[in-house]
Amino acid sequence: MATIASTLQNVNKRIAAAAINSGRQPDEIILLAASKTNPAEQVKQAWLAGQTIFGENYLQEALEKILTLSDLPIEWHFIGPIQSNKTKRIAENFAWVHSVDRKKIADRLSRDRPKTLPPLQICIQVNVSGEGTKSGVSPKLVTDLAAYVEKLPQLKLRGLMAVPELTTATALQRSQFHMLRSLYDQLKQDGFDLDTLSMGMSEDMEPAIAEGATIVRVGTAIFGPRRYPIPEELAAHVTR
Ligand SMILES: *Cc1c(COP(=O)(O)O)cnc(C)c1O
Repeated sequence: MATIASTLQNVNKRIAAAAINSGRQPDEIILLAASKTNPAEQVKQAWLAGQTIFGENYLQEALEKILTLSDLPIEWHFIGPIQSNKTKRIAENFAWVHSVDRKKIADRLSRDRPKTLPPLQICIQVNVSGEGTKSGVSPKLVTDLAAYVEKLPQLKLRGLMAVPELTTATALQRSQFHMLRSLYDQLKQDGFDLDTLSMGMSEDMEPAIAEGATIVRVGTAIFGPRRYPIPEELAAHVTR
């Protein structure tokens, strides 16, 4: 079995190659290791191999890992769907949240963010595939939500995030990344101070980087297939 150090190195090479191929610098792209379902020990292996940013989807699982690994200065990002009764523990334990898609959640995260911590770094999740079941604000409502988040005292709006529909059709996949990029450019033109486009996963990091991704969220290509089945009640929210 490949070690995490070697899979991580491969992913970093893929990122660098994709950057060069699109005329970008490799260091413009940050790798977030999506560690859901993988135990703390695997996260630690990745840390020892140089990875410092990790993303988690399920709060309970994440809190256990954060506690177990509290001696490591890991930067934890929350990337999963958010129920409103979970905002307090998310606001207390994470540096970033990528999956804000409604005002109520933004309000609560700002209210629950301890004043002793820096503002919570926020991406707005956009539904770029138009599928009814998927998380994310509709593209039409992004500007309104961005204006709202920008005014909340304990939040810092950084950019946009998407989980496009998985498709083997490269053109369709790219068009979804392109749509997120266009929304991002539009917001910047409108005066929002943004620097983050969170898009691209194990299967599609190259087209995402070609369309301007600044954070790619990669799980399987680092940790291998997920460790255990995703709980059924959560599976409804999981898109892949
Ligand atoms: C699991 C997950 C990823 C990583 O997906 P892989 O296909 O395993 O690379 C990225 N983003 C989100 C929101 C996820 O839930």
